[in-house]
Amino acid sequence: MNTFKNKYEIKKTEDGVIFLFYCDLCYHTVSISGFNKDIHNIQLEAMRYFNMCHACGKWVCDLHYNEETMNCVECAPKKMYCYECGKEVLIHEKYCKNCGNRI
Ligand SMILES: [Zn+2]
Ligand SMILES: [Zn+2]
Ligand SMILES: [Zn+2]
Repeated sequence: MNTFKNKYEIKKTEDGVIFLFYCDLCYHTVSISGFNKDIHNIQLEAMRYFNMCHACGKWVCDLHYNEETMNCVECAPKKMYCYECGKEVLIHEKYCKNCGNRI
């Protein structure tokens, strides 16, 4: 099994410690309460919220993961379709090239 190497931050709160995990491609975060747990277990818990790209090893959120190829969208851009005209668009595009609809 591949090691979870997502970046994380540790925050101290009144109730204890919270670990914040980030998607490697955006600012989507998952926070996990770290009270009485060791970092290994916390990472295991966080892994369930992210997906690993099998090409570059990045850990990304569902939005940035292409399930068909098991890659991040940087390695394998996810196919998305315009709601208006149904033409294929790329995830980083803001407007459909075909009809100009906002995605
Ligand atoms: Zn993301
Ligand atoms: Zn990748
Ligand atoms: Zn369109």
